[in-house]
Amino acid sequence: MTLKAIPEDSKMGEFPCNTCHTNCCKEYVIFVNAHDVYRLSVGLGMSPQKFLDIIGAKDYDLGIKIQEGLVDLALKQKDGACMFLEESKYVFRCTVNDIKPSVCKSYPFQMEDGKLIQMDSKMCPVEWNTGEFEAMMRAHLKKDEDEWVFYDKLVAEWNGTDSKKPLAEFLKFMLDRVAQEFSEPSIPTNNKK
Ligand code: SF4
Ligand code: SF4
Repeated sequence: MTLKAIPEDSKMGEFPCNTCHTNCCKEYVIFVNAHDVYRLSVGLGMSPQKFLDIIGAKDYDLGIKIQEGLVDLALKQKDGACMFLEESKYVFRCTVNDIKPSVCKSYPFQMEDGKLIQMDSKMCPVEWNTGEFEAMMRAHLKKDEDEWVFYDKLVAEWNGTDSKKPLAEFLKFMLDRVAQEFSEPSIPTNNKK
């Protein structure tokens, strides 16, 4: 299916992702950081273990050292797509749209030389009007970058303790840190929901 380019005068509400049946929510592994996990856990009232997968980390310096191995955190998949994707003949919908991970909000944009551009990716069939999204995405991409810096420091601190504790303990450590930033109570990491 090919979607038309967004006309210059299109409104933000007319969002092409709602009717798109291409593969961005199927093809990519969605890696997540501490803030992503926190927002999803709080927003869904769900233990992170219910939606997180651990994937063997390629980067030895950035992977999380836990009892289960050297890992990265990603969203679970179901039937070959992100578990949060609802797809039928008529619907292609992110069921966690308001709290979806930062990388999902960013796609398919990136900054280059201080300007918002569309990624050089063939997967997204829409020719986005980047000017329309410039202010919103500039702020979002900066926030996203800051959150990954926060996460990388947190992982480095955890790994520095040289303790190979289970995933649940790392998640508690990670989410407590985000909760401290927001001055909010920490969330459970092993409830049954
Ligand atoms: S970002 Fe592109 S490929 Fe992904 S759902 Fe939206 S229109 Fe489709
Ligand atoms: S969280 Fe939503 S936008 Fe991101 S991959 Fe899953 S369904 Fe797609």
